[in-house]
Amino acid sequence: MKTAIYPGTFDPITYGHIDIIERATNLFDSVIVAIAKNPAKQPLFTVAVRKKMIKNAIADLPNVQVDCFDGLIVDYAELKKAGVIIRGLRAISDFEYELQMALMNRRLKDRIVTVFLMPHEQYVYLNSSIVREVASLGGDVSHLVSPSVMKMLEKKFSSGNYKNKS
Ligand code: ADP
Repeated sequence: MKTAIYPGTFDPITYGHIDIIERATNLFDSVIVAIAKNPAKQPLFTVAVRKKMIKNAIADLPNVQVDCFDGLIVDYAELKKAGVIIRGLRAISDFEYELQMALMNRRLKDRIVTVFLMPHEQYVYLNSSIVREVASLGGDVSHLVSPSVMKMLEKKFSSGNYKNKS
């Protein structure tokens, strides 16, 4: 059975992430969406909320699980007996960082292969930070995230729930 891990911050999950997950389910028997616990990134949503949002978004997809991890992704992949790490590649701007990370992960554990998937063109310029920024300013992001994520963004940015730290 071929298991692939799709790691990321997912703060929040967007239609671009979902596009990649769908493509991955067509290639692998099982896909684990793994939320990186990286407090240094100061995420907008807690890991628990991000997990819930991902679960809602992938409810209709077969053989997809959601989990979280800390430490090295290659160690986590080994723990889960997964031979593949999935990453999304959008514009050229992703390439250098992703190549560096893939080569480092290969050096750490040669057995684990990084596979890059390209999303539909409509999601090539989409990332979670633009969603957070537009939503925080009251803009419509309903074409970029699922209705349940929309609801969480509205809750976060409505009536003083969100304190801008800067
Ligand atoms: P990270 O902090 O690991 O980059 P992200 O949640 O931003 O976490 O991204 C996780 C993965 O999903 C990365 O491989 C990223 O390139 C990919 N990704 C993010 N947004 C998109 C998108 N719109 N289309 C395709 N891949 C995407």
